[in-house]
Amino acid sequence: MTALLLNIAPGDEVIVPSFTFVSSANAFVLRGARPIFADVRPDTLNIDETQIERLISSRTKAIVVVHYAGVGCEMDQIRKIADAHHIPVIEDNAHGLFGYYRGKPLGTFGCMSTLSFHETKNFSCGEGGALLLNDLRYAEQAEIIREKGTNRSQLFRGQVDKYTWLGIGSSYLPSDLLAAYLFGQLERRTEIQRTRQCIWETYEAGLWDWAYKHEVLLPQVPAHCEQAFHMFYLRMPTLEIRQALIDHLRAKGILAPFHYLPLHLSAAGKSSGGRVGDCPIAELASDQIVRLPFFCSITLKEMEEVIAAIQDFTF
Ligand SMILES: *Cc1c(COP(=O)(O)O)cnc(C)c1O
Repeated sequence: MTALLLNIAPGDEVIVPSFTFVSSANAFVLRGARPIFADVRPDTLNIDETQIERLISSRTKAIVVVHYAGVGCEMDQIRKIADAHHIPVIEDNAHGLFGYYRGKPLGTFGCMSTLSFHETKNFSCGEGGALLLNDLRYAEQAEIIREKGTNRSQLFRGQVDKYTWLGIGSSYLPSDLLAAYLFGQLERRTEIQRTRQCIWETYEAGLWDWAYKHEVLLPQVPAHCEQAFHMFYLRMPTLEIRQALIDHLRAKGILAPFHYLPLHLSAAGKSSGGRVGDCPIAELASDQIVRLPFFCSITLKEMEEVIAAIQDFTF
């Protein structure tokens, strides 16, 4: 929907971090745009704001930022660059709902932002998401795109006596059943976020000394960011050690996945020109990351087992 609202068309370019999920790029590729991949910061793994300006061209139609793991991107600098070039910023806020950057909620910095309610997210109805508009100029068109390109929403409000097809759109509505399931969680958001904070802090406290001693990196949260507690990950020194840790945990019945294959080195990214070395920090992070089990119903005992299993890993 963000790509449709911005009238993205073939030949346009959209700046996207390489270290993200495919949806961040796909939305624009579907409209014929070329993703221009930016590297990420070594600390937060968010888009490196110092790399953005050199990627801007006369074809750039949007800058997409992802608040990785629910830690805010450097929005002050990003907004300054985007404003100077009159380019809209879109926040992929799939990880960041209820996080803050300098006291302002994530998702409120771009002209639009998107949420995901996929089952892996803090708030879930299995599949689906939401579009947040921070610029009301897009509201009327968004309503039409969401309703198969029709003005059915206006009919519901009694503003017209029949509805009609006005232009491009699709069926971007969640079902009422899914919305109800999600709403129950949103009503309990404080409790859910507090639980997730507790899980995150238990892992950090339990692994801090071990990580320091073994030169393993833990997530870094700048002081001006209040994170959304989306995930807890380790960054292991090498790909081989990372794989060995995943195998070690699996042997103990603990599922600890890695992610993302940098988009510029995916099959699709390579066929549009991506090369090894284009985004070195994304490439490094992709080899290092192990994500620890993180869900609201995990027990303290289970977390202690995970921590003990990690401390038991020798390399
Ligand atoms: C989950 C996720 C999305 C959205 O995924 P969908 O399956 O399309 O809802 C987008 N960006 C990031 C960074 C994600 O983690």
